[in-house]
Amino acid sequence: MEYRREFLKKSLVSALAVWAGTGILGAAAGNLHIVRKGDTLSKIAQRYGTTVKTLKQTNGLKNDVIKVGQKLKLPASVLGAATGIHVVSKGETLSSIASQYGTSVQKLKSSNGLSSDLIKVGQELTVPDRSNTDLLVPVVAATNRIRVDSTRWRYVVCHHSAIEAGNAEVYGKAHKRRGMEHGLAYHFVIGNGRDSGDGEIEIGPRWTKQLRGGHVRSTRVNDSGIGICIVGNLQNRAPTARQRLAMNQLLDFLREGYTRRGVSVTVHKRVDKNHTVCPGRHFPYGDLDRFA
Ligand SMILES: [Zn+2]
Repeated sequence: MEYRREFLKKSLVSALAVWAGTGILGAAAGNLHIVRKGDTLSKIAQRYGTTVKTLKQTNGLKNDVIKVGQKLKLPASVLGAATGIHVVSKGETLSSIASQYGTSVQKLKSSNGLSSDLIKVGQELTVPDRSNTDLLVPVVAATNRIRVDSTRWRYVVCHHSAIEAGNAEVYGKAHKRRGMEHGLAYHFVIGNGRDSGDGEIEIGPRWTKQLRGGHVRSTRVNDSGIGICIVGNLQNRAPTARQRLAMNQLLDFLREGYTRRGVSVTVHKRVDKNHTVCPGRHFPYGDLDRFA
């Protein structure tokens, strides 16, 4: 047990270092987040794929006030995504834990050799498919907090940003300047490691508020289409391995439960024909064949 805890600590620190390097964890040190200028609880929660409520509970905060330099403890689900080991806390069930990691109760039980649904506080569980779920953790967490009417979404449209710089915030400001009332035209932005993490999926307000897209010319497709943007110019290069993994995980996630049956998973140039090369000649078009 002692050895396991020591191992857990070590692997946590190295996993956090890797995440910090990708920009996913920002100012994380050990299992703490050190509050920086401009941080709010909701920004921090979104960054780590958790909720304001969980952050406040973990840190015993009575209100939303935080100050620069303050050290916040990160919740178990954040640590679990980094280390692959989830320490059960009070009030958790197998199903609440599974949903935090985008996996199923069945998989959670089989990877831990559990024959019943009984778990206890402090118990250490192996997180299954971790390499396949950590990019999705923020999406799963954000989506668990909202209600999605899956019959509404008939299209998922992939884009590239056509430039290497930028992230959800930068593009959101640009779209606002161009007169888009809801800002960021896409629902999701997948980073390239420059202004957001490599493969980091940023969630825009159009997803959290379930608003129509503004990413294509066609009004019909905007009304019922989810927009995903890969940061970079894919006329010049292929997406990074993590961008491609993130995109495919996101597409599967959206198709399984958040979009209409028979949803059309497509790309910008197939929607607005003879108008754009988006998402570029190096986009992995074959990845969409499984949705045809
Ligand atoms: Zn486009």
